[in-house]
Amino acid sequence: MEAKLDVHKTETIYLDHSATTPVDPEVLGAMMRYFANHFGNPGSIHQFGRLARAAIDNAREQTAALIGAAPGEIVFTGGGTEADNLALLGAAAAAKPGKNHLITSAVEHYAVLNTCKYLESKGFSVNYLPVDGTGTVDPDKVRRAITDRTLLISIMHANNEIGTVAPLAEIAGAARQRGILIHTDAVQSAGKLPVGVDDLAVDLLSLSGHKFYGPKGTGALYVRRGTPLAPIMFGGHQESGLRTGTENVPGIVGLGKACELAARELPWQMDRLLELRNRLEKLIVEKIDAVRINGHPFRRLPHVLSVSFRGVSGDAVVRELDRQGIAASAGAACTSGTLQISHVLAALRIPEDYAPGTVRFSLGKGNTEEQLAGTANILAEIIRRLRNK
Ligand SMILES: *Cc1c(COP(=O)(O)O)cnc(C)c1O
Repeated sequence: MEAKLDVHKTETIYLDHSATTPVDPEVLGAMMRYFANHFGNPGSIHQFGRLARAAIDNAREQTAALIGAAPGEIVFTGGGTEADNLALLGAAAAAKPGKNHLITSAVEHYAVLNTCKYLESKGFSVNYLPVDGTGTVDPDKVRRAITDRTLLISIMHANNEIGTVAPLAEIAGAARQRGILIHTDAVQSAGKLPVGVDDLAVDLLSLSGHKFYGPKGTGALYVRRGTPLAPIMFGGHQESGLRTGTENVPGIVGLGKACELAARELPWQMDRLLELRNRLEKLIVEKIDAVRINGHPFRRLPHVLSVSFRGVSGDAVVRELDRQGIAASAGAACTSGTLQISHVLAALRIPEDYAPGTVRFSLGKGNTEEQLAGTANILAEIIRRLRNK
């Protein structure tokens, strides 16, 4: 009961930054002008159009700089899902005859998994590689799955549920010699970890603005120069014909600004969040028994903590936390009375008495040590109560 008193009723603690982040005030400030005063269509040749065009050019440079790309290799999209779709469907549409096999993993985001399912319905074959208990894809398994028909390998850089970071460069190494395209969904890592397209040795990389303090409905696909890619929507010739439609100028400006901010703040934010996350992890392990920390022990996003509590429902924990003003997310959703474990947790083969009790805490710029101490106290109380039911 005492733990409850620690939290001010009016304060909310947001620990769900892997779901989405608040828009940074600096990002919002940069965007505002482009809704009203600078409303021109970047395709117009007059000064209104030129202003909007210049803003997009600037955002393209900011976005390219974050990931070590050339500005001409950035295609702005309507978010991470669209970038993933363009990467897979676009590569499939541009594939040479006979190249009709894809390799991915069992723990990808649905933006990749369901696009693969769709491609299967169109005659492509797909390998969904298993992961080990840390959520890591074995590069050797990738190598062995490659055939003469393999067109593309899509492996996410960092997992959104457990934070595990993939050994991408190793995976890519195996494929590059065979002329196979490599795509990575870097939606969770861009702006959070150093992400360099050459270090990762990828041809295609997806990112999303709202996962790192930019606006929702904005994203980008990096397309390495020379990568065969066909459009998946048809219309005008915006974004080199790869993403038709009048550009979302305020959104693109916001995404660019978010990239610039991330590049500037990343080195110290990464260390700060890692320290905060490890602190929360330590408090939870100290205060609560029968817990499992998920993901790779060190190849893991610095701000993500996925933890499984034995004998409780993660869904119930998240609801109880919410009643105390704390926002987190569960790894299992209650649909029509039965607890459905996510495909990611299922792939990890977490013991049955733990998996349903999985909760993800994902930290961000606004979180403080005090908030995490309060969260750990309240959490311990909630788990104790739920276990005694
Ligand atoms: C959020 C997310 C997406 C989807 O991005 P949107 O911009 O929300 O469409 C794709 N992949 C991963 C790993 C994500 O976390």
